[in-house]
Amino acid sequence: MDMSRYARQIALKQIGKDNQEKLLTKSVLIVGLGGTGSAAAEMFSRLGVKQLILIDRDKIEITNLNRQILYGMEDLKKYKAETAADKVREINPDIKVEFYNKAFDADMAYLVNTVDLVFDGTDNMTTRFIINDACDKYGIPWVFTSAIETYGEFKAVIPGKTSCYACFNTEPAELPSCATSGVLSTVPAMIALYGVNTAIKILLDYENDGSIYFIDGFNFEINRIGIEKNINCRCCHDKNYRYLNREYSGIGKSLLL
Ligand SMILES: [Zn+2]
Repeated sequence: MDMSRYARQIALKQIGKDNQEKLLTKSVLIVGLGGTGSAAAEMFSRLGVKQLILIDRDKIEITNLNRQILYGMEDLKKYKAETAADKVREINPDIKVEFYNKAFDADMAYLVNTVDLVFDGTDNMTTRFIINDACDKYGIPWVFTSAIETYGEFKAVIPGKTSCYACFNTEPAELPSCATSGVLSTVPAMIALYGVNTAIKILLDYENDGSIYFIDGFNFEINRIGIEKNINCRCCHDKNYRYLNREYSGIGKSLLL
């Protein structure tokens, strides 16, 4: 493989040749190819990994184009996952790319066991519970991200080390959506940047304490809150992976995507 495309990362003391080679052995699953997920797909493809698996059931709408940076006018009405896969292959043909034009539900959770990390680009809590249960079951780290209005949040979940998503969320709630609350053009890519940097550090075995970070992209404020493991957690303590059962996989999904 021609490593010259990675020369500027190999020159970094935080990456270097060994870590770049390590990244090129890693597979990442991106669930949701909207504002954060599509930006993350581009960032991972430029970073250099071995494989990307992209999953999203939606098609590209004109209301997506203010923030979903992989897509343009020629992509309207096409599937996001398939379109993102085409763009990623164009950016970096050395990466193996798979895509699924379907929802990430309990039936698709097996994909988690085929990768080194999951990046959450979803917009609803139910899908995050499915990701969380699957990642705990298979021992795969994931990065939670969320963006709306002018702010967002992100957190690493590393099974066996950090708190999980179910440690601080018990049931899916109907979340405000970008369709009703709005979202500033720059914010999902900003949160994706922090999320992908978190993923890079996890893939390279840097420490992460599982804190959640809240970022106000308009007033330039970052707040970190430590999230301890919940000793009564249904998922990471009790190993009750109920969202991997079909009957739970439709609860509380956002109606406005
Ligand atoms: Zn937990």
